[in-house]
Amino acid sequence: MTERGEHGRGLTLILSLEEMQGWARDNRRRGVRTALVPTMGALHAGHASLLKQARSCGEQVVLSIFVNPLQFGPSEDLAKYPRDLDADLRLAAKTGCDVVFLPMPASMYPTGFQTDVRVREIEQGLCGAQRPGHFVGVATVVLKLLHLVLPDVALFGEKDYQQLAVIRQLVRDLSVPVEIKGCPLVRDEDGLALSSRNVYLSSAERQQAQRLSQGLFAARALYETGECGADRLLAAAQEPLLRAEGLALEYLELRDAETLRPVSGQVADPAVLLVAARVGKTRLLDNVILGRQLRVSKELRLGGDT
Ligand code: AMP
Repeated sequence: MTERGEHGRGLTLILSLEEMQGWARDNRRRGVRTALVPTMGALHAGHASLLKQARSCGEQVVLSIFVNPLQFGPSEDLAKYPRDLDADLRLAAKTGCDVVFLPMPASMYPTGFQTDVRVREIEQGLCGAQRPGHFVGVATVVLKLLHLVLPDVALFGEKDYQQLAVIRQLVRDLSVPVEIKGCPLVRDEDGLALSSRNVYLSSAERQQAQRLSQGLFAARALYETGECGADRLLAAAQEPLLRAEGLALEYLELRDAETLRPVSGQVADPAVLLVAARVGKTRLLDNVILGRQLRVSKELRLGGDT
């Protein structure tokens, strides 16, 4: 099925795994460079920024939309995860996507499916501790998507920092012939990290949620004045959270930006300060990188850079 997007490029929808792999093999054979952006849909400006960066990495851009049941725990929000295919297709056309891959759960995981992909160390702690089995689900689906789309480059957001580290490790360990590109976190004008789950927040909850980024920015500002003590930086990030009603902190940690190993004592950059919290029933993630000057990308905020 092909529709014409605003950029005048045809937007092809592919539903079957066989068709996707056939398209991918054909592209490989012809030497056409392909960029993949895997998502769970309910697209927002964070996803759009990945798609725009993908445009400059490949001649063909594939967006996959798949709410992956394997990465949701039994008491998580799989059934009510936001879905809006029409809006997603409009955004895909607008950003100049070529293919939207929409596999069905029953074709991704047919009866008898039994393989797990597990990145043992990096999945420990942080979200891995809060969501047992989550990163096995992520690693398994990402490896499967890479085999189906055969991209030269796949793009992931630094918003899900531990996920990006898991995928980099997976690709390295299993010699998957793909380049993994990490893309800067995109925030709303009020500082809140964009997430498909933000639609769950009431306006009062949204105010509380802003304290996550306020804390991270305070710690980053302190770091930029020369403070390198991990305890002081963590205390600065935690301060706004102590006063937040209805906000339950899951973790606030300083980790090495490359290895994700815990940092204590003095921070040697680059390090990443990561936070996860529940605001009401909504689980939110955020992070800032300390020592950004050594890193490749820069954080983006809607309506201007931070
Ligand atoms: P999701 O649909 O939430 O699974 O996200 C799909 C991809 O978009 C992942 O690589 C995410 O890290 C990335 N992403 C989600 N939110 C943001 C954001 N606010 N900024 C940058 N990338 C994001």
